[in-house]
Amino acid sequence: MSKQRTKLVVGNWKMHGRLADNAVLLEAVAQGAGALPANVRVGVCVPSPYLAQTQALLDGSRVEWGVQDVSAYTHGAYTGEVAAPMALDFGSRLAIVGHSERRAYHRESAELVAVKTQRVLEAGLTPIVCVGETLEEREAGKTQQVVGVQLDTVLAKLSAQESARIIVAYEPIWAIGTGKSATAQQAQDVHAFLRARLAAKSAAAADVALLYGGSVKPDNAEELFRQPDIDGGLIGGASLKDKDFLAICKAAGAVGALSVKQ
Ligand code: PEP
Repeated sequence: MSKQRTKLVVGNWKMHGRLADNAVLLEAVAQGAGALPANVRVGVCVPSPYLAQTQALLDGSRVEWGVQDVSAYTHGAYTGEVAAPMALDFGSRLAIVGHSERRAYHRESAELVAVKTQRVLEAGLTPIVCVGETLEEREAGKTQQVVGVQLDTVLAKLSAQESARIIVAYEPIWAIGTGKSATAQQAQDVHAFLRARLAAKSAAAADVALLYGGSVKPDNAEELFRQPDIDGGLIGGASLKDKDFLAICKAAGAVGALSVKQ
């Protein structure tokens, strides 16, 4: 039996935004998302101080929201940290974990990312687990090894049921913020590999959404999203411009309407 495949587009604002600019962007995205076909899901992951504003402006719209990281703890003496249940208090449904910027600048290990994934699931949110290789690793032929270990370390801590509740984002580090996206074929190859690793964990996990991230723009989104194992995108820079972000969402909707899953 075949069914229509839903595409998911999530914006990662990173450390950008101020109240006034956010209001304009969120209102435009909420309004634009209302006109998208039903087969596209849209989300934005904002800096935590703006969760209340995001909730106020997106509540009742088609757009989901969430955070870009969570603490590995639920509460306690961890100055500066934000716990997953706190994000839930503001209506979050999504939480990015293991973004390459956190792995690199905050020395987050694969094990820590796995624990954060557990905290997100326990809070009832959906973790978007990021994996990706450096250019050096790709050129050394180590892409599968690197992303395989990153994903397997997370899956090892999850039950079969929990592993079916995650989203995985493949974000080659050399493509993030560089304007140099992976080709659709390069991305598809890694996604197919990740899909097989998920399937080895459990049949249900094989079906989780696999997002591609790294310099997705309106002009390359459709080709990327047309690949059979690319279920949407995690969008950095282009998510800060309402027209670009909505054009990417529209591309996802157009492709989603065409693709079928066997
Ligand atoms: C990201 O940071 O998750 C990302 C994909 O960034 P960009 O789209 O700007 O490459």
